[in-house]
Amino acid sequence: MKDLEIIIIGGGLAGLTAGIHLSRKGLRVIIIEKNEFPKHKVCGEYISNEVIPYLEWLDLKIEDLKPTYINKLQFSSIKGTLINTNLPLGGFGISRYELDNYLYKKALSNRCKIVKDVVDSVVFEKEKFTIKTSNGAILSSNIVIGAFGKRSNIDLNLNRKFIQQKSPWLAVKAHYLGDFPNDLVGLHNFEGGYCVISKIENEKINICYLTKNSSFKEYKSISDFQDLVVKQNPHLNKIFEDSELIFDKPLTIGQVSFSPKKAVENHILMIGDTAGLIHPLCGNGMAMAIHSAKIVSELIVDYPNNDIKTRADLEKKYQEIWTFNFYWRLKAGRFLAKVLLNAKLSELFLNVVTVFPFLLVMIIKKTHGKPMLIEN
Ligand SMILES: Cc1cc2nc3c(=O)[nH]c(=O)nc-3n(C[C@H](O)[C@H](O)[C@H](O)COP(=O)(O)OP(=O)(O)OC[C@H]3O[C@@H](n4cnc5c(N)ncnc54)[C@H](O)[C@@H]3O)c2cc1C
Repeated sequence: MKDLEIIIIGGGLAGLTAGIHLSRKGLRVIIIEKNEFPKHKVCGEYISNEVIPYLEWLDLKIEDLKPTYINKLQFSSIKGTLINTNLPLGGFGISRYELDNYLYKKALSNRCKIVKDVVDSVVFEKEKFTIKTSNGAILSSNIVIGAFGKRSNIDLNLNRKFIQQKSPWLAVKAHYLGDFPNDLVGLHNFEGGYCVISKIENEKINICYLTKNSSFKEYKSISDFQDLVVKQNPHLNKIFEDSELIFDKPLTIGQVSFSPKKAVENHILMIGDTAGLIHPLCGNGMAMAIHSAKIVSELIVDYPNNDIKTRADLEKKYQEIWTFNFYWRLKAGRFLAKVLLNAKLSELFLNVVTVFPFLLVMIIKKTHGKPMLIEN
């Protein structure tokens, strides 16, 4: 098993992390990624500190990227009622442009083979995967990791359940220059959505919001929507008025689905958003992507062993550990999003946590993990 190449489909945060881990342990890895590096991605760009011990173990020096260090959360309802709290574990702000590119370079220096191509299909037969790409390449391996993000042509190819339903969510993100504290992440609601703001490297501010298609489609443009809906929250109004856009135009993505997914499908071990996407208001998707890459890599490095003898054992174990670590976090994220996106409930929520601030800290802890333990 160990002298075969492991194929990872998708070179985002999860795929690159798994590639770095597996190659560090001497395994041969091919990562197939459809996009060039570096590239901007729609993301809140706030990462929970729970990943720090693991990133250090992978020999990734995030401080070299000059992130901002964040330990405060500011949260407001649609009407602008505001609460401030400390983040129990804290996190850091770094753009995906810098972070993914840094991981890409590390994966290359660890001798991962990174192929720029689009995977068109994955077939599992007689204990082997056959992967076909748009450039006509045919690759095979007996371990494939699915790290192709929240929505991909592979989901259609595998006929995954979540892809059958339309998702009502779309997201917008851009970088700005302006005045915003380095140590703060802002989470501000507006009618039909919410907006996450934090500083990243080089004094830039990342503003990213998620909204329902139904609210968005009534407006002619992003700037109309921002003026007439997003800025109705006075805190968002102030942030936008005080900031200057440095992208040519904001990036947008549609069909963002938070529906449950399976962590193993067609024998592919799914990591990151491919296994499940948590609501961005939890600020924990990237940490989960990195954590799931760690779990899958540790199992593969150790496979086969006395406890995990067969592929079925490997799949079962991965599914179990994944569920243990992430199932309740995803559920808590979905529940929280429902509450906060309802004008009356979010106002009530704010009133309750203003009187009992420990409840907010408890909720934040429910959607986050603990610092990742390193075993070897
Ligand atoms: C609006 C929004 C805001 C967010 N904000 C935050 C935040 O502040 N903090 C946080 O922790 N998380 C946040 N998240 C979540 C976070 O962005 C994701 O959890 C994280 O990007 C997951 O990484 P990934 O590697 O699974 O997916 P990705 O980073 O999306 O990587 C998947 C890769 O697969 C490639 N790919 C897809 N299909 C193919 C194919 N067929 N062939 C080859 N390559 C393919 C893609 O090009 C892509 O590079 C946010 C998410 C959204 C939607």
